[in-house]
Amino acid sequence: MGKVIIFSAPSGSGKTTIVRELLQRYPQFEFSVSATCRAPRGQEQHGRDYYFLTPEAFMQAVEEGKFIEWEEVYAGCRYGTLRSEVERIWSKGNVILFDVDVVGGLNLKRIFGDDACAVFIMPPSIDELRRRLESRGTDTPEVIDRRVAKAEFELTQAPAFDHIVVNDDLAEAVAETTRIINEFIG
Ligand code: ADP
Ligand code: 5GP
Repeated sequence: MGKVIIFSAPSGSGKTTIVRELLQRYPQFEFSVSATCRAPRGQEQHGRDYYFLTPEAFMQAVEEGKFIEWEEVYAGCRYGTLRSEVERIWSKGNVILFDVDVVGGLNLKRIFGDDACAVFIMPPSIDELRRRLESRGTDTPEVIDRRVAKAEFELTQAPAFDHIVVNDDLAEAVAETTRIINEFIG
């Protein structure tokens, strides 16, 4: 079994931004592309950011046991980690980076145990989280409200992770995450 690094956070905390930085710095890291039945947003591409499936195809994959974990992260909006991604990345000897919701992150930590480093990316405040979601400009006001409402529950789960990184200043958050990862991969 190889190593895995799990990033979870309320939506808008800056998790994707941090994961992209790490992928540039560490050639041996590879992003686990999840499946989802939400529509692509912005510049997202099928197979790179997500595997975009219809709700029917997603549920078929659930029935065929293709997911290690999956969650209905928002009402009617499912996301899941594919077994084939884990096999694909480990077969190359690479370290897997997961970007999953808080419940999924804790499930993956339980599955991979000491082979996993679970990092919670914490926004400086709920107000700042809302500002970031608004300035990202990819979600409707209703979607932003749902994400902010969910964040309040998600923040209560932070202590269950191996590490908490506050993403206030981005460069500092990346530096802190890099320290944690260097210690983990040795
Ligand atoms: P997530 O993947 O957690 O949903 P994103 O990485 O998409 O979050 O970040 C949400 C928005 O906040 C993006 O517009 C991003 O550029 C911005 N952002 C990320 N980190 C910071 C930071 N430290 N300070 C200010 N804005 C940030
Ligand atoms: P977004 O729609 O902003 O891309 O993602 C919404 C949430 O779903 C984020 O918290 C993201 O980390 C989470 N997510 C993405 N892929 C997966 C997955 O495979 N499993 C789980 N449990 N959550 C996921």
